[in-house]
Amino acid sequence: MQDLFDLSGKVAIVTGSTKGIGRSIAEQMAFHGAKVVVSSRKEDAVQTVASEINQAVGEGRGSAVPIACHIGYKEQLQNLVDETNRQLGKIDILVCNAAVNPYYGSMSEIPDSAFEKILDSNVKSNHWLCQMVLPQMIEQKDGVILIVSSVGGLHGSAVLGTYAISKAADMQLARNIAAEYGPHNIRSNAIAPGLIRTDFAKALWENPETLKVTTANASLRRIGEPEEIGGVAVFLASAAGSFMTGQTVVIDGGR
Ligand code: NAP
Repeated sequence: MQDLFDLSGKVAIVTGSTKGIGRSIAEQMAFHGAKVVVSSRKEDAVQTVASEINQAVGEGRGSAVPIACHIGYKEQLQNLVDETNRQLGKIDILVCNAAVNPYYGSMSEIPDSAFEKILDSNVKSNHWLCQMVLPQMIEQKDGVILIVSSVGGLHGSAVLGTYAISKAADMQLARNIAAEYGPHNIRSNAIAPGLIRTDFAKALWENPETLKVTTANASLRRIGEPEEIGGVAVFLASAAGSFMTGQTVVIDGGR
């Protein structure tokens, strides 16, 4: 019998993986045998988190290497890919996780600069990174792309409208890649978390009253923890998910 969740020997990049959801994905992929690139804007943070993951995962499993990258800059994305190839070899798994949201409020008042920043970081940067990595996946006739979207992309929003547009586009990006590159044995799926206790979503959970309102409609009646996302990424990236592509997996406690 095969361990369906084994990622031994696989090389994975996870953007924005020093904290929160990205860190959970990087940790779990390394724990399941992958050689994972830990990445974020901050050089010191990527060094620290990569060595913490190596210590936690221990001998005989996967490992982590640090490569800093601000997803807003095309040349830094290219460097992330080139450095990964130089240090670890060809990329098997790409997780586009880092995203931004500099604006909360009405769509009619959002400055052009914020609108552009959200779409550039959350959609165009993911598209660029996929463009950079896909040729080597095609060559290997094997590859997995995961885009971290959000349940925000599944319904309208009065206050996070542009962010929601970007997250809906991320689901479509995953579907497009699945459709175009499926014949090359490349799978692509989106993960859509609900409210997760990370710094990114602090405004929605820090105040106990706000948290109560936000989680009132969730079957589980609680916020999610970052550690509850990593397992699904392992499933989607491994043999366990080998017939699954073009989908969006919602993980939101039943909201
Ligand atoms: P988080 O805990 O704040 O972590 C964000 C990570 O991304 C950090 O490692 C951060 O490190 C890095 N980062 C931020 N801006 C970056 C940039 N421009 N370039 C490269 N790295 C960058 O956030 P999170 O909640 O885990 O969010 C991760 C993903 O989950 C995002 O796509 C978000 O939209 C999605 N999501 C979150 C929730 C939620 O409730 N938390 C719900 C649905 C979807 P540095 O600051 O060092 O760069």
